Amino acid sequence: MQGQMMDVPLLVSSLLVHAERHHGEQEIVSRRVEGDIHRCTYRELAARARRVAKAIAALGVQQGQRVGTLAWNGYRHMELYYGVSGSGAVLHTLNPRLHPDQIVYILDHAEDQVLFFDLTFLPLVEAVAPRLATVKHFVAMVDRERMPADSRIPNLRCYEELVGAQDDDYAWPGLDERAASSLCYTSGTTGNPKGVLYSHRSTLLHTLAAALPDALDCSAGDTILPVVPMFHVNAWGLPYIACLAGSKLVFPGPGLDGKSLYELFEAEGVTLSAGVPTVWQGLLAYVDANDKRFSTMRRTVIGGSACPPAMLRAFQQRHGVQVLHAWGMTEMSPLGTVAAPKRKHMELSGEERLAMQSTQGRVVFGVDMRVVDGSGRELPHDGQSSGELQVRGPWVVSRYFKEERDPRVDGWFPTGDVAKIDPDGYMQITDRSKDVIKSGGEWIGSIDLENIAMAHPAVAMAACIAARHPKWDERPLLVVMRKPGAELTREELLAFYKGKVADWWTPDDVVFVDSIPIGATGKMLKNRLREQFKDYRLPTA
Ligand code: AMP
Repeated sequence: MQGQMMDVPLLVSSLLVHAERHHGEQEIVSRRVEGDIHRCTYRELAARARRVAKAIAALGVQQGQRVGTLAWNGYRHMELYYGVSGSGAVLHTLNPRLHPDQIVYILDHAEDQVLFFDLTFLPLVEAVAPRLATVKHFVAMVDRERMPADSRIPNLRCYEELVGAQDDDYAWPGLDERAASSLCYTSGTTGNPKGVLYSHRSTLLHTLAAALPDALDCSAGDTILPVVPMFHVNAWGLPYIACLAGSKLVFPGPGLDGKSLYELFEAEGVTLSAGVPTVWQGLLAYVDANDKRFSTMRRTVIGGSACPPAMLRAFQQRHGVQVLHAWGMTEMSPLGTVAAPKRKHMELSGEERLAMQSTQGRVVFGVDMRVVDGSGRELPHDGQSSGELQVRGPWVVSRYFKEERDPRVDGWFPTGDVAKIDPDGYMQITDRSKDVIKSGGEWIGSIDLENIAMAHPAVAMAACIAARHPKWDERPLLVVMRKPGAELTREELLAFYKGKVADWWTPDDVVFVDSIPIGATGKMLKNRLREQFKDYRLPTA
């Protein structure tokens, strides 16, 4: 017997329709590339998104075709999020920090028809445009007055003119909820980036789950500032979640330094933010150096790489901002786990709670996860047994865009992360499988060793990599960036490990560097460091 409830498809456009009808006056504030602050409401945003839908149709874009963006977080990008996906085309957000060759590869692979870009990226677009096979129209996201006078891009179009030429008399089409809505490529530190094609259904289900109190905890009372870029896995879903919840949205545009972010947090009363640890480092450094306080921020989501416990302490103990440590990946839309407390954690002391919060957390409903050993056998949730982490669920990738091979193993997606799960279901990542250090056949987790170094007051950033060793095969080498003006010797730092890990886990050596390479999504590029130190001779060798 069938149920008798309405069969309403789960569509991205329904989020915007909801925000327009029920939170129409809610504000969206953007720091623009133009340098000023722009304000609009969900009602205005929805009307402009409908014009965008008509504008791309006028450019010849059909349902299912890809439309690229190279843009910061801002209201125009948000209009494209909804105008493109809502009309049945596929929004393809590109990471402008990638190498131009990769950008060309990705644009060609995705067969983008139109490329929208912020003026910041004009030189990049000019450089790649002659090499692109499929892009027919280039659109600069500004008004006519600010259009570049002598661009090398033929037929460069003006966003405001394009949108202004349409009216907003448009009805969002009914679509198959399994149709593609957006496309995002993995950062591809090895080999070519791979495309992950989200559907309307996967996006809606992810949005519903990610907004929950034990996930990102978003409500109509919130003012959300996504620092995580809209080109990094859809800003972790926040542009969708904000519409669902009716939250005020604040977009930082290109201003991602500590000072610009802090000023925007305070001016707009931001209550919730989200970003990778490297961005928060800049913000914390600014706030601490200038003796500032967050007057409205209540919580911040930290993910993308492990949140060092020292950062947790800084936010919570010094600034009273609760940290939500989250884990996910492009292949997971991205949310998988959040370190939200259970009832039993409520009575715990600060330090005991921090231990729980330092894990990557427990799954949000919709995602299931397990760890398996080398032969694919599931390992117990005992907080000890570590192995490869696998996931499955309705917002987990089943196949990469245009690839034949099914990446799943017995129906599970192998994440490439090495992890353990405790009896309460809290998962802790010890490494990327390719970053693991194998010493005498035993695994040493580089993230633990980095977290300890990061807790030292003189350390700004630390990466732990495997260095060759004649007896043990590999041993940990710690690469460290000191804080400006701070003094710290190799011996002092190695002594700092005493009692914090088993002696044989202590790094064999420390090298101090001026900078650690950071990739396009703000993660340390350990493969670069491994290459740099591939001939490094350890003193113990
Ligand atoms: P991306 O697809 O670029 O978002 O990268 C996903 C990968 O980032 C994951 O497979 C993890 O290796 C890493 N990652 C994401 N969040 C965390 C976290 N909270 N702790 C440790 N690693 C993380």
